Amino acid sequence: MSAEYGTANISKIITTTFSALFKHKSQIPYQYGKHSVPARPLQPHLRFPASARAAMAQLQPWAAAEPRGCTLHSGRPLELFCGDCGCCVCALCPALGPHRGHDARLLLQAARDKQELLTVYLRNLEVRKEQQAGNRRSVEQAAAELKAHASTSKQQLLDRVTQLQLLLQEEERLARSVIDEKTQQALEAHGQQVQSCQEELAALESFSRRIREIQQCRDPIQFLEKCTEIEKEMQDSRRQPEQWHPIPLSFEHILNYYSYLMKFLQSILRKPLEVRLKEDVFTSLNATSKRDPGTMLKTVTPVDRMLFLKHARSPTWEYDSLHPRLKLSDDRLVVSCSWRRILYPCGPQRFDKLWQVLSRDAFLSGSHYWEVDLLHAGAGWWIGAAYPSIGRKGDSESCRLGWNRASWCIKKFDLEYWAFHKGERIPLLVEDDPDRIGVFLDYEAGILSFYNVTDGMTHLHTFRCKFTEPVYPALRLWEGSIGIWKLT
Ligand SMILES: [Zn+2]
Ligand SMILES: [Zn+2]
Repeated sequence: MSAEYGTANISKIITTTFSALFKHKSQIPYQYGKHSVPARPLQPHLRFPASARAAMAQLQPWAAAEPRGCTLHSGRPLELFCGDCGCCVCALCPALGPHRGHDARLLLQAARDKQELLTVYLRNLEVRKEQQAGNRRSVEQAAAELKAHASTSKQQLLDRVTQLQLLLQEEERLARSVIDEKTQQALEAHGQQVQSCQEELAALESFSRRIREIQQCRDPIQFLEKCTEIEKEMQDSRRQPEQWHPIPLSFEHILNYYSYLMKFLQSILRKPLEVRLKEDVFTSLNATSKRDPGTMLKTVTPVDRMLFLKHARSPTWEYDSLHPRLKLSDDRLVVSCSWRRILYPCGPQRFDKLWQVLSRDAFLSGSHYWEVDLLHAGAGWWIGAAYPSIGRKGDSESCRLGWNRASWCIKKFDLEYWAFHKGERIPLLVEDDPDRIGVFLDYEAGILSFYNVTDGMTHLHTFRCKFTEPVYPALRLWEGSIGIWKLT
């Protein structure tokens, strides 16, 4: 009820209502010349609703009017109201005076009509106030939810960064243990080398001692015998001594590796965060970041279909999920009941008990609008949307469209209409049976709305939900056929 009460519309309502009221001359007791218009009944849409009439009945009756005379015709009281000029005149004015031929009617009647009009206008203002208060509540709720979401997001961010820090600490631990292990191996080798040097030194020392002892021998025969004894050993030890050069063990390559890793990270981080989040190389579910903060989805009732056609889609049905008693048209837009079971390959996605099917196309961000043709759907049908996690086997609640957290639908059976989600049902007042229903999804806003296309886009129902999985158009059939209206 919002758009039709815009300022322009209100003035239009007032103008049309007034002109209709003032041209309705059957209530005027006088005939004012040849210009008067023949009486005609009030048009149905201008009749006051019963509630307005009840409100008017409570109005105070008019006080006795203060008698005032006409400025043009002295002595004549103001008895009429000229609708063309918007002023009170005497009975002579429309007959003889400047209001000749004007739309004039009894003063009290005119006042009463205006009073009625103001009552209707006040009612409309009440509706607008309610609407606006509703909008304020929605925005306030969104603001509160946003604050909570921001704070949990920051906590989660802290958790992820902490995880990243832990990963880096673990990486450091691993690199340190590589250094420790290599160092240990080298030190063990060096220890053995030092040991063998020491043994060699000790051997040389003892040999030197032996030679010095032989030198001190006074007996030349003994001396020469001892010299011959050690001659071979002396020749052996005269060979060129080895010089050892320990090759230093380097960990430069480990440090280099982390330098490069850091440079790589820096090359990513050098770009401003805002730009990186927009490019979002890690996920494709990034439509949210492309929206400006505080964006509002505005709808009016009755909505303009053109508004939705900007997001028009023509989803086709998924063969693999189709129940064996359902068949698809060649263009995959129409699902119909088959008189016999069809032999489809068994698969995990196929509904095996319920006559249901999901679309091939899923929506996981942005706005989408599709229309479902119900002209040949028969007495019962379910249309809506589902997560891919809806159950496929059996006919338990987890599989039934609208009976679980994973699906939403509008159901018709006989003359009754219901909105279904999580097994909770809300009765819908549908005045004219829809031949076609428009379904609008805004993933980020969490809105799934249904409109009666054949009845000038009358709003049927809106589900509000925080979507967490891809959303697939879905349906369930009772008889006949249901098709997607080709919009694209
Ligand atoms: Zn007058
Ligand atoms: Zn006039």
